[in-house]
Amino acid sequence: MPGRPIEAHTPGARWLTQLRTAGRALLDLIYPPRCAGCGRVGDLLCEICLAQFEPIRPPVCQHCGRPIPHEGLCRTCQHTPSPLDGIAAAAVFAPPLRDVIHTFKYNNGRGLATPLAQQMAVAWQQGELSADLIAPVPLHAARLAERGYNQSALLARALGPAVGVPVAETLLARQRATLPQVTLGAEARRQNVSGAFVCRGDVAGRRIVLVDDVCTTGATLEACAAALKASGAGNVWAFTLARARWNADDRAG
Ligand SMILES: [Zn+2]
Ligand SMILES: [Zn+2]
Repeated sequence: MPGRPIEAHTPGARWLTQLRTAGRALLDLIYPPRCAGCGRVGDLLCEICLAQFEPIRPPVCQHCGRPIPHEGLCRTCQHTPSPLDGIAAAAVFAPPLRDVIHTFKYNNGRGLATPLAQQMAVAWQQGELSADLIAPVPLHAARLAERGYNQSALLARALGPAVGVPVAETLLARQRATLPQVTLGAEARRQNVSGAFVCRGDVAGRRIVLVDDVCTTGATLEACAAALKASGAGNVWAFTLARARWNADDRAG
């Protein structure tokens, strides 16, 4: 009956569930799932690719968590204050994870959110992170409409229950559209996102972990942290699935 919700326990609902399961099985038969990393048929993310994700090993910058070849702070953190209290990540942004993230974001790979968030949950436990709230980096409404989903929100939604922290999906909003960061250099990235975010919740004194898929320069995460700190957040960390390797400047520093 159109417009009338079907209760979960009715025969109608059971029939629908069975139909959906059968539909998925048929789709899997016609278009078998392929690994987003290597293309092997079987899983969305195969064991072989998972084993190739590079965990971030010390030494890392004490402040931003970027892998550096020495103890202490990276060159950027030595010279630039940040509204972020720290950055952690599950793995290095390198193949095959780089290809997996590309599929996740741009090829309707939303099914990858669960296995990828599992990797983040393991890194969260190993890094002994804790928080009152998890907040995903928001997409602008126009980008969200175009893509159909916010990959950071999907990761946060799967990560929160795995680590026992509530997820505040709409805590942050983008108040203006920005250029894709991937096209810009470090300084342009900072200007592009500066003041782009607004906090829409009560965060006074709270410990918040921002979740995003990739951290490159950290400019977007810093702009989010600035909005949260301006609203009184006590402590803001960023936690991403992947982290870019250090650049030449950091290596020299
Ligand atoms: Zn694979
Ligand atoms: Zn640093």
